Amino acid sequence: MTSSGIAPSADRAYFAAFLDLRGKPGLVVGGGPVAALKAEAMLRSGVRLTVVAPELCARLSELTLVGALRHEAKRFQPGDLVGAEIVIAATDDPAVNESVSNAAKALRIPVNVADNAQLSTFIMPSVLDRPPLQIAISTAGASPVLARKLRSMIEALVPFAFGRLAALAARFRAASKRRYADSEARRRFWEDAIDGAVGEMVLSGREAQAAETLQRMLAPGASAQAPQGMVYLVGGGPGNPDLLTLRALQVMQRADVVLYDHLVAPQIVDLARRDAERVYVGKESDRHALRQEEINALMVRLAKEGKRVLRLKGGDPYIFGRGGEEIESLAAQGVPFEVVPGITAASGMAAYAGIPLTHRDYAHSCVFVTGHLKDGSLSLNWDVLARPRQTVVIYMGVRGLPQLCEQLVAHGLPASTPAALIERATLPRQRVVAGTLATLPALAARESLRPPALAIVGEVVKLRDKLGWYRPGALDQEAPADHSNVART
Ligand code: SAH
Repeated sequence: MTSSGIAPSADRAYFAAFLDLRGKPGLVVGGGPVAALKAEAMLRSGVRLTVVAPELCARLSELTLVGALRHEAKRFQPGDLVGAEIVIAATDDPAVNESVSNAAKALRIPVNVADNAQLSTFIMPSVLDRPPLQIAISTAGASPVLARKLRSMIEALVPFAFGRLAALAARFRAASKRRYADSEARRRFWEDAIDGAVGEMVLSGREAQAAETLQRMLAPGASAQAPQGMVYLVGGGPGNPDLLTLRALQVMQRADVVLYDHLVAPQIVDLARRDAERVYVGKESDRHALRQEEINALMVRLAKEGKRVLRLKGGDPYIFGRGGEEIESLAAQGVPFEVVPGITAASGMAAYAGIPLTHRDYAHSCVFVTGHLKDGSLSLNWDVLARPRQTVVIYMGVRGLPQLCEQLVAHGLPASTPAALIERATLPRQRVVAGTLATLPALAARESLRPPALAIVGEVVKLRDKLGWYRPGALDQEAPADHSNVART
């Protein structure tokens, strides 16, 4: 215990700091790829860099050629350190590294030796860069791999726009000091701005509006802003939680209320913020928990109460998802919104069933249609669908499948055209039934495939024998094991 009462812990003896090295002379000793990484990190911080090494790797030569650094083609000598404010040794010769370290320590120049904490007076953290925001991670050399892993975990959760938010805050820092002399009041002001409308605007790509809002909030006599809600219309993908986008995950963790559809898997809804309110708004074919107009009105009301509303839909919100209608009603009411695309069922199915949607040899175009029956029949433009070298994907097509196959043949597609039905694509219980336009309806009926399922028609279906890779877990009781054309793939 020191007299200050603060004891340095055995596990943690480094002092974390960010050095301002812009325009300062720095030295890298070594010319290989590791030296190149260190050199690049220094250059990004604005160091005036010299590299001492008999020879350079391709990357360092390139940086020398474009004038980013100065190369001294020689072996290191202690005199090279004169004037340097920082030095990194990254040669593959331990003796050279050690002599750099000794010379630097004698001159009190901060020194780092790659992969050697003993010889270093500072270590380099793993850095997540969202300029001007930087997040540095260190395990005090215990496990660089762990530090990098942590960095990629944080990377997934920190929106790129956080950097822009920091830059915006920097622009208004002086103004905020003039407006709030008291540092406590200033802190509260920034908390409100960043947690509230301003932060929301920057994160959803409305920076100009965010700047105007800050300006208004900082104007003399301005009072605190009422909280402003917004709606995120988010595509939750085809069901497998790993196929969510980073943006979807980020906004899910900010939402106050989640309105979700029947198609969104419980594991995905679970990824929303723990204390977010969850509202099931349904839509399982004809059983609607709430009518569309009621959903629209609910979103508007919640957003106007200042809530961050997450409207979570299966697949992509703008593909047979009525997302357009929902956004129209928000726009009409002046409610701010952001739309986050999702992987549509057709893309998920294509990847997980091994059926590319287009292919130079088989299909030059791809059409998505809905096979939803209106008054018991399908109303589709058959002439456009029954074309050669085209893939047709049918959403909501389980019930209409017999009619669909019949009509495509009636309009000119050969009855032998490959066709498949894929149930629960991308999920552990994915099932694929493949046949032709002539055989598929009977096969699907025999296996009693149920929604959600997609039908796909076209020569590309044949490719699944070669391109299928997804082998979901153990077969369960209801697995149809004895049919060669039914595959759990
Ligand atoms: N917006 C969604 C589609 C909504 S319509 C999207 O972009 O994917 C609902 C239909 O999507 C279902 O009837 C089914 O045809 C299809 N679908 C959604 N998820 C599916 C899945 N995991 N497997 C197969 N089909 C799926």
